[in-house]
Amino acid sequence: MEQAPIRVRNLNHYFGAGEARKQAIFDISLTIVRGGLTILMGPSGSGKTTLLTLIGALREVQEGSVVVLGQELNGASETSLVALRRRLGFIFQAHNLHESLTATQNVLMGLEVHGKGNTVKQRAAAAHMLDILGLADRRTYLPANLSGGQKQRVAVARALVSNPEIVLADEPTAALDKDSGHNVVRMLKAMGQSRGMTTVMVTHDPRILEMADRIITLEEGRVVSDTNP
Ligand code: ADP
Ligand code: MG
Repeated sequence: MEQAPIRVRNLNHYFGAGEARKQAIFDISLTIVRGGLTILMGPSGSGKTTLLTLIGALREVQEGSVVVLGQELNGASETSLVALRRRLGFIFQAHNLHESLTATQNVLMGLEVHGKGNTVKQRAAAAHMLDILGLADRRTYLPANLSGGQKQRVAVARALVSNPEIVLADEPTAALDKDSGHNVVRMLKAMGQSRGMTTVMVTHDPRILEMADRIITLEEGRVVSDTNP
């Protein structure tokens, strides 16, 4: 069997130090196979974002093992973490668009292309991604002139333009109206089927839950249910 893109073993995570030290993740072990849509659920403060950012190499692994695309993150060098992050797509609640860049330029940031270095092919890829997300007529707009939902879709385009192997999304549809939220998730699912992209998403939207291949529920830093362990 091919190696799973995400493999977590006996993961613990703590915030703070000394008396204030508080455990946020308790002995989580999970294997997520290639190509599916996995949903993380659970009440606020249950550890969903912490787990997602640990998998995304955005937070140092303190205890246990997290292997992503064959790379062990516990003890990994910053260089290998940077290389790994380039193979991932992130869609987080705060869309973090650059206010001084147009929609197309923001999407090009997903290719780590800055200024004049970008090629015709890269600009075409960025434009194509914006088209798919229904923003063809907004390519030259600055974020200040886009609605919340449109900004969120630019952030989705930026995350996907590099053809990431894994997409990590933290409530990506919260700022979207229902229909465009579901279109985004349908697109992620289609990309899972067509080229094996693996998506892990935090959401509470019942209609998105229906599209999931697997639903993992966290409570107080522990996995309390898993539809497909
Ligand atoms: P969720 O995303 O499920 O709402 P989080 O992963 O953000 O939960 O938080 C899990 C727990 O860790 C919570 O108790 C939260 O208060 C705590 N926590 C998260 N981030 C930090 C941080 N940067 N510093 C201290 N505690 C944190
Ligand atoms: Mg969260």
